[in-house]
Amino acid sequence: MTSTDRTHDPARRSWVESANAPECDFPIQNLPWCVFRSEDGSSRIGVGIGDQILDLQAVILGEDDPVDTSALGGVVTCALTAPTLNQFMGLGREAWRATRHFVADLLDASSQCRDDLLVPMADAQLLMPATVGDYTDFYASRYHATNVGRMFRPDGEPLMPNYLHLPVGYHGRASSVVVSGTDIRRPHGQLKPDDGDPVFGPIKLLDYELEFGAFIGEANQLGDRVPIDDAMHRIFGLVILNDWSARDVQKWEYQPLGPFNAKNFASTISPWVVTIDALAPFRRPGPERLPEDPPLLPYLQPSGDDVLDVTCEVSLASASMREAGTDPVTLTRGSLADLCWSFAQMLSHHTSTGCPMRPGDLIGSGTVSGPEKDSRGCLLELTWRGSEPVDLPDGTQRRFLLDGDELTISAWCESEGARRIGLGSCSGVVRPAE
Ligand code: CA
Repeated sequence: MTSTDRTHDPARRSWVESANAPECDFPIQNLPWCVFRSEDGSSRIGVGIGDQILDLQAVILGEDDPVDTSALGGVVTCALTAPTLNQFMGLGREAWRATRHFVADLLDASSQCRDDLLVPMADAQLLMPATVGDYTDFYASRYHATNVGRMFRPDGEPLMPNYLHLPVGYHGRASSVVVSGTDIRRPHGQLKPDDGDPVFGPIKLLDYELEFGAFIGEANQLGDRVPIDDAMHRIFGLVILNDWSARDVQKWEYQPLGPFNAKNFASTISPWVVTIDALAPFRRPGPERLPEDPPLLPYLQPSGDDVLDVTCEVSLASASMREAGTDPVTLTRGSLADLCWSFAQMLSHHTSTGCPMRPGDLIGSGTVSGPEKDSRGCLLELTWRGSEPVDLPDGTQRRFLLDGDELTISAWCESEGARRIGLGSCSGVVRPAE
């Protein structure tokens, strides 16, 4: 296990009572970051604790009964009063760790209760935590890649020859990364019927992809590679990611340069960034390779506990289910630990040319699928291109997403000897094409 410290002590409690409930996603051991809209309309940085948000601007700039923030230093306090997390992300892990200790001590049960620094989550609008400069999406689940290969190339090897040698990815579109709760408008696209000429219209095969996103913290300069043993130190934290996908567009457009419009209309992230520091009790060595897999080149050899053991669940509620008050139906349960490439390997490979990464850049894991049918991370796999539809409690079936569907991904970490922490959830409702 990666080294933990007193901020991970499972016995630690907060004076924010809701944080001490056993099933709470945001106990004092977590301390995830967010940006929220404050009462005065400004964007502020916050930390999740129980069902409350610690308002960092109130902590740092509050004039009534001021908090002593001298331990943080001017650079950190300046970054924490910015309207996004980018500046703080860029400060690097010593600053992140010192701030984590400061916030944990402020919220500790032994400290003075400071309700005046809190904003109830129920009253807050959560915003994008950072300005995403560049977004890259990988393809790191061999189960997903194998299933997709079998569907689209039934006569060939399911995995392409490069797959086990390097983490495959593509440069995505940062401008359409949106925060959880944003409606997803069904896009238009160029579609090619099997028996006719291309047509333009609303897409028919709308899908989700269960993924995680890693926010890059400390930058590397143009020309500098990030070695694999430094890669996890450069990652600030994790969000849940839903890479909404237009399968009919994808099928027609993807050769020879890969996904384009099939992936550029919306990618939803959860608003809470759970730090790599908070995930320390849930890191494992790896990823493991099979005995028959080819050897890795040295720059991709795992050097530490790079596997993050995060459990995730996807659920769907149609418009009529929500109207009837029916519980969402669970589609998938998976684990980030099932990926065959780690975020450290992805970052190391991404920068192996000297490509610079900047604070707030986002790396997507690719669809998280496991070996079992109920751990397939998208409808394309789950319904095997629509041939095995999913039954919903309202009597309808799903091959792909329909207008009105609400898709939610939640995620959490559990490990013996550690306090359970959660990543919250990532949701979006599909709206009709216009
Ligand atoms: Ca994807």
